[in-house]
Amino acid sequence: MPILKIITIPNPILRKKSKEINFKEINTRDFAKLVSAMGKTMIKTDGAGLAAPQIGKSIRLAVINSKDGPICLINPKITRKSWARELGQEGCLSIPGIFGQVKRHKKITVAYYNQAGKKIKQVAQGLMARVMQHEIDHLDGILFIDKMAGKKIKQHE
Ligand SMILES: [Zn+2]
Repeated sequence: MPILKIITIPNPILRKKSKEINFKEINTRDFAKLVSAMGKTMIKTDGAGLAAPQIGKSIRLAVINSKDGPICLINPKITRKSWARELGQEGCLSIPGIFGQVKRHKKITVAYYNQAGKKIKQVAQGLMARVMQHEIDHLDGILFIDKMAGKKIKQHE
């Protein structure tokens, strides 16, 4: 399967709030294909994660690269966040050429459904927590440049 086309700013899809995924959809063949194509696209483009809006789909789905391979987050919700936050470098496949420092919660608990429709509660910290917060932001139309420390990048209207 060819890799998916990644949309970039200022495409308005990146600013939309994505829709919750209906539980019945998770078990369909098309959905499995989509998740697999997103995982491949993320790996080929060397991304740490990829959210569905970045491939033009306004649904609450993201894939994240972990040391055990891609993990799939369906309807993810952050249920706990540490008070402590830390700065770290971020970039985004939808915002080519821009990198910046973003403050994120150090440790979070995320509840989501995996590709098999199983409910998962995962505690993440460090880079994994950062990537999850970045991807979940995408599902709400939020981009890392909105939260970037220091100089704000001016977007063309
Ligand atoms: Zn991104």
